[in-house]
Amino acid sequence: MRTWCTVDTDDLRHVPTHQGHPTRSKAKETLPDYSSHLKDGFHQFRQWMESNEVAVTLFIIADQCNNMEFVSTIQDLETTFGGRITIGCHGLTHRSWSAWPEDSERFSEDLQQATSILKHHFPDSFRPWFRAPAGYISDWMASILSQQKYTVDTSVNPSWLVRRKASPSVKKVVESMESSGILERKWKTRFSLPTCGPAQHILGLRWNARQAWKGLGNPLGIDELHCVEDSRHEIATIYWHILDHARVNGRWSPPIKDL
Ligand SMILES: [Zn+2]
Repeated sequence: MRTWCTVDTDDLRHVPTHQGHPTRSKAKETLPDYSSHLKDGFHQFRQWMESNEVAVTLFIIADQCNNMEFVSTIQDLETTFGGRITIGCHGLTHRSWSAWPEDSERFSEDLQQATSILKHHFPDSFRPWFRAPAGYISDWMASILSQQKYTVDTSVNPSWLVRRKASPSVKKVVESMESSGILERKWKTRFSLPTCGPAQHILGLRWNARQAWKGLGNPLGIDELHCVEDSRHEIATIYWHILDHARVNGRWSPPIKDL
């Protein structure tokens, strides 16, 4: 089975402990629009891209595009790596939707705004692919994604450990996506434990998570990216963060076989 590599561009100000969640967010300080940490991450990410042929989908939070230096960073990546870079939507503001009461109207407005911002700045690389901020996905979001012509959702972490993030349940979210004509690309798990994002670094999860990634099939290259939207192709979906590339003094890279 081939692997779809996806990378979320979240900055420090987007994490749920800072904003977007009804109980976890306790923001005290104002963090920068585009932090030096994230800039370091992009710098190292670019070097990693230069060392292989992997095609990567970046999931961008549209509010990051208020900063023109951020927009230029992404446009430079598009220019350098061409079709190896595609862009999906990671929300307008990284709101943890399923942690709040249902709000279809606001989600619809936010999604519309986010989509038009991303299409405006990255017309060639944009794809109608969605990832719910912090994996907080609800079944009622599916019909709105479908109305706005999204074809793929990749928000579901099918691990028992974080199942409460999918509302009302993983099963209901997946069914709802399917009946709305949206292909759900669930995140890779191993022994029913998470392997993506923070799981690569959390003590108690990281050994299993790294083993899982080492055993993955080759990442999709440019010519195979169409498989993402095609339900006949089973693929393994993994994600990490641009910020991860700033770890270990910039020496971190995803523990996968690259091309
Ligand atoms: Zn995120």
